[in-house]
Amino acid sequence: MTTTLAIEGGKPLREKMLLFGAPYFGQEEYDEVLDTLKSGWISTGPKTKKFEDEFAAYVGAKYAVALNSCTAGLHLSLVVSGIGPGDEVIVPTLTFGATANVVEHVGAHPVLVDVDATTLTLDANAVARAITPRTKAIVPVHYGGMPADLDALHHIAKQHNVMVIEDAAHAIGAKYKGRTVGSLSPLTNFSFYANKNLSTAEGGMVTTDDADLEHKLRVYHLHGLSRDAWKRYHTKEYSLSEVVVPGFKYNMTDLQASLGIHQLRKQEKFIARREQIASFYDEAFSEMDGLVWTPPRPRDGLSRNVLHLYPILIDVTRLTVNRNRIISALLAENIGASMHFNPLHMMPYYRETYGYKPNDFPNAQRVGEREISLPIQPQITDHDAQDVVDAVKKVLGAYHK
Ligand SMILES: *Cc1c(COP(=O)(O)O)cnc(C)c1O
Repeated sequence: MTTTLAIEGGKPLREKMLLFGAPYFGQEEYDEVLDTLKSGWISTGPKTKKFEDEFAAYVGAKYAVALNSCTAGLHLSLVVSGIGPGDEVIVPTLTFGATANVVEHVGAHPVLVDVDATTLTLDANAVARAITPRTKAIVPVHYGGMPADLDALHHIAKQHNVMVIEDAAHAIGAKYKGRTVGSLSPLTNFSFYANKNLSTAEGGMVTTDDADLEHKLRVYHLHGLSRDAWKRYHTKEYSLSEVVVPGFKYNMTDLQASLGIHQLRKQEKFIARREQIASFYDEAFSEMDGLVWTPPRPRDGLSRNVLHLYPILIDVTRLTVNRNRIISALLAENIGASMHFNPLHMMPYYRETYGYKPNDFPNAQRVGEREISLPIQPQITDHDAQDVVDAVKKVLGAYHK
């Protein structure tokens, strides 16, 4: 029996689109937002403070500063680390544009490095080779929620006296050798963008154990003012607040924090459900004769991939069409598939500015040509997950050589 693919005029496998990465809110979030709206204090205030405190406790960091995005956090991290013109910052080529763009914002140069073929996170050996006297920081990305090899990266950083600034946009709740991401490096940045594991529509958090860095983050995140509005409001005695540095406008609002507080409290439940869905996918795709590579999990019993993404790599050499056509075919079946990432060395700006070639980074290149991200948000049902598997099998079956 052959079934005509929806993209070729057949009937879609599902009637309704299964969205990719849709956020998952409940009554707790609705009530909290309403409470904030009625409270008279909607921008940075008591709920932002509460979210910061609970977040710091969850990841095991001394300090957490809430921001309006992870990109803002990455930018601030470079600023408070004193990184500027002439400096180099090591970034994996397999990441979102923001990771490298912020390096350009401070006038420094991102130096792209390949990822490990198995974990898809920074290859520590390649990092060691990319270090120069101008290197000031290494920015590991926990791709898809898989913790990067932080011991190896911290070792290199210590040897060369450079900062480690984590891009943990995918990694809230991720663990590395028993410790939670956010408590391991001098600065760690989280994203609460619409489709991230914890969503506040837009938002971010930077964590640190260093009081001096925390102070600088506070000052720079809100115009470079000596004290923020909530603190001014709560001091009975009036005093002027002063601009001490030309800071940015990167603060989180209490409306966002209202979502964040409850999303944070639900994370462990969310992660457990992501693990269930991932195990179901692992099992289903293991039967496909190597046509589909499934994402790794740490095997030390102490580390945890929080499965922000479920990235599969398809063996395009055994297919009659390329990866983009496969994604289009899945979308036509009403499966919200996506891809992460077209590597930065393939992006016009970085390619042309630094003269990168496609095969400079073979592991990332391979991901860029073969990767498909499948829906794995915690609210999808077992039935939805079965539809995803059936659609992948239907499409790959139809395009098999
Ligand atoms: C989403 C993402 C960011 C940016 O997060 P924002 O909160 O949207 O600024 C940075 N890095 C990676 C790897 C991301 O996936």
